[in-house]
Amino acid sequence: MTYLPALQKTDPEVRDLIVSEEKREADKIRLIPSENYASQAVMEATGSILTNKYSEGYPHKRYYEGQQVTDAIEDLAIDRAKELFGVEHANVQPYSGSPANMAVYHAVLEHGDTIMGLALPHGGHLTHGWKVNFSGKTYNSVPYELDPETEMLDYGKILEKAREVKPKLIVAGYTAYPRIIDWEKFREICDEVGALFHADTSHITGLIVGGVHPNPFPIADTGITTTHKSLRGPRGAMIMSKAEHAQKIDKAIMPGLQGGPHNHTTAAIAVALKEAKTPEFKTYAEQIVKNAKALAENMKSHGLRLVSGGTDNHLILFETQQSKGISGRDAAKALDKAGIVTNCNTVPFDPNPPFNPSGVRIGTPAITSRGMKEDEMKKIGDWINSVLENHEDETKLTGIAEDVKALCDDFSCPGINPGNWS
Ligand SMILES: *Cc1c(COP(=O)(O)O)cnc(C)c1O
Repeated sequence: MTYLPALQKTDPEVRDLIVSEEKREADKIRLIPSENYASQAVMEATGSILTNKYSEGYPHKRYYEGQQVTDAIEDLAIDRAKELFGVEHANVQPYSGSPANMAVYHAVLEHGDTIMGLALPHGGHLTHGWKVNFSGKTYNSVPYELDPETEMLDYGKILEKAREVKPKLIVAGYTAYPRIIDWEKFREICDEVGALFHADTSHITGLIVGGVHPNPFPIADTGITTTHKSLRGPRGAMIMSKAEHAQKIDKAIMPGLQGGPHNHTTAAIAVALKEAKTPEFKTYAEQIVKNAKALAENMKSHGLRLVSGGTDNHLILFETQQSKGISGRDAAKALDKAGIVTNCNTVPFDPNPPFNPSGVRIGTPAITSRGMKEDEMKKIGDWINSVLENHEDETKLTGIAEDVKALCDDFSCPGINPGNWS
């Protein structure tokens, strides 16, 4: 039988594009640290008829009738989130991570209030107060930075700055920071200056629920996570908070910012949270870090400069401009030609702008979901170095792409079945 038969009949153009993307995801080594392979079960829930239903409001308090099933689904997702993260309140309706942060700010801040988050070029997210983002325009954002020597968080400096600017809220949690975050320290800083502590664990939630990184949610006032990164769920987000902020947060999402929740996503979040409680998920989370450390060691052996000197989590940020004479963008483009998919990224105190920065960001969640381990990390590290040293040699890059494909053929991808394509 044809794969995706209804789509083949209605819109073969889109069907073929989807199959092409499946092949790309199967044939390449995907190292973008925010990406992953959602399970077949998560995909089935996401692709379900739950997309048909409008459910504005919250379970048992909806504006439209016919919520017998959707209430049960959202209750399940909320209960699982509360249990898994050890929190008093969870809202599973945010459409994605950025709107989730927006909703939290909307709930607990007034326009013009002072917030502190890590500067974007140092690894913070746009929605943590960066100047071109709503968060930097609506609020008085005073970013903190990394220590220039260690390229790590300097809690003393953050406290000093917080004492000076008296923020209403401090954001901790990052998109390009390879080290463990000391959540307790942030709690102390916030208590000392009377700020709310907002944790954004989007990148590392899989590591937290897998028990390999500390969980900030029980001690944070508010927090968010995306559900599609290391957590390996559908594209979406959740807000976690203390009970005292619950009502304001729910109101900020609906009617403040959003209309009807995406029930198909809510169901898939519930599935992902169930998967995250299994022993297999714990093993996956542990292997993500083992793989990142193995890859980091290999890259260092090739003389590559890693920001902060290494990694404690799923992510590696490395410098290419100074150490290899190639911009981050050119490096990422050459790696893509060789079948290794990454993204260019600023390094702390980068003299170059975010669009053409000096580094590349990579991570191990997706390749770990495929079952790759330390032996494969060594091969990948060797290929990365070889690409950087031969980035203008098209024949060499094509050769590496063939080797990459051969390795990928030995590791199946959750949610993708090559047997469908024939
Ligand atoms: C990815 C990310 C977000 C935003 O998530 P989107 O779903 O892309 O809007 C917010 N905060 C952090 C720390 C992230 O890594």
